[in-house]
Amino acid sequence: MCEKMIVLKFGGTSVGNGEMIKRVAKIIKQKKEEEKNVVAVVSAMSEVTNALVDISQKALTVRDLAKVNDFIKFVKDKHYKAIEIAINNKEIKNLVKKIIDSRIEELEKILIGVTYLGELTPKSRDYILSFGERLSAPIVAGALRCLGEKSIALEGGEAGIITDENFGNAKVIKLEVKERLLPFLKEDIIPVVTGFIGCSENGNITTLGRGGSDYSAALIGYGLDAKRIEIWTDVSGIYTSDPKLVPTAKRIPKLSYIEAMELAYFGAKVLHPRTIEPAMEKGIPILVKNTFKPEDEGTLITNNVEINNKIVKAITTIKNVALINIFGAGMVGVSGTVARIFKALEDVNVILISQGSSETNISLVVNDEDVDKAINSLKKEFNGIKKSGFLRNNLIRDIEVDKDICVISVVGAGMKGAKGIAGKIFTLVSEAGANIKMIAQGSSEVNISFVIDEKDLVNCVRKLHKELIENN
Ligand code: ADP
Ligand code: ASP
Ligand code: MG
Repeated sequence: MCEKMIVLKFGGTSVGNGEMIKRVAKIIKQKKEEEKNVVAVVSAMSEVTNALVDISQKALTVRDLAKVNDFIKFVKDKHYKAIEIAINNKEIKNLVKKIIDSRIEELEKILIGVTYLGELTPKSRDYILSFGERLSAPIVAGALRCLGEKSIALEGGEAGIITDENFGNAKVIKLEVKERLLPFLKEDIIPVVTGFIGCSENGNITTLGRGGSDYSAALIGYGLDAKRIEIWTDVSGIYTSDPKLVPTAKRIPKLSYIEAMELAYFGAKVLHPRTIEPAMEKGIPILVKNTFKPEDEGTLITNNVEINNKIVKAITTIKNVALINIFGAGMVGVSGTVARIFKALEDVNVILISQGSSETNISLVVNDEDVDKAINSLKKEFNGIKKSGFLRNNLIRDIEVDKDICVISVVGAGMKGAKGIAGKIFTLVSEAGANIKMIAQGSSEVNISFVIDEKDLVNCVRKLHKELIENN
């Protein structure tokens, strides 16, 4: 039965208001008519997760109940308005409203609790963030019922996504997707699953990392051996660069899993980086489509590498990252120093690494929010060497942090073995007036990444795009 099954994921803008939810319900219904079995995965309505992040931080630090009240009003208005437009059957409307009311009431209580206690654990933060999807999914399921479909809203855990308790970036430890979802599909019911969230074996709600609804869709597709995973978003596929940054960027009709993985990992926000792996393992095609323009073809991601004369396929960027430079003679011939650096950073997501040719420095790029954790862990690891203290021992002399930087990556399977491409890239960067602070080439050789000042990002990306993609 699953061979004729597809997973459809709709992002925040796609379910951003009542009209959009109606449109999404129609797409799901039409797909069901074509494919027989569909599972929908939905994000929180646009802006809701950001607002939840913001209010949980404010509840902790500002501790002003008026802020919680304003936030609750915003969430209520947004979801009520959506219900009003997306659900035109009185009975269904009342039912959905009841669910939304009780969830918002619960959210309010938790936020008041954080405000009074001044305490926010990673576990309670994940629980707060889960409300975005837990409020949008029942509305989408209600809109489907208004179209005459049978539908049920399910949480990630209820759909069989079982994770560890690494709150904020939980890892999947078990998938019980088939057991949980097949009974609904057999009854012709369309499950509408909350993206972004899973559940631990202890029953705690966890989140899979920002933008993680794409990953949820891939996990469900994997669990059900789906025929296809469709990612419905606000652009017509994966482009040669972020179309918001480079207006001349073009849609890429086809990509290989590896290329898409590199693009996602190095900043193409249109796909969460962890989305590709489950699909690739089972050879499930991923199709990226535009909810606003369903007639557009989108981007198809499969195992096939498109051979064309283009060496460079896309240029991506990562912002909100920092460069950490570790200097010290201890890295010359002292075995184990580098290993110790990485051991110290085992809980930090290191985006790029490069070691200077003199071996006296190592550069790392990490997310802004991980900088303090990284520095503290390095201090802890190297402190005990000489009692004179950190940074004055023989191994590590100094650590510098530069927060005003960004990463640019040039990606394309054709770059493998292509001579002179690195030289060309670096000449163009310098012509764009930017100074390269670090370079790294992925071992897959399908990308070259480098760090420049964030102020030079737009100029540099547009220049590279023009010379390496448009004029080629
Ligand atoms: P959703 O809410 O549907 O998950 P996201 O905002 O997470 O959508 O991702 C879609 C956005 O990704 C686009 O609006 C676009 O600005 C951005 N983006 C970044 N790089 C690319 C790229 N190479 N191709 C397409 N979109 C990109
Ligand atoms: N709502 C979550 C976020 O904004 C997950 C997602 O949209 O994919 O990060
Ligand atoms: Mg997204």
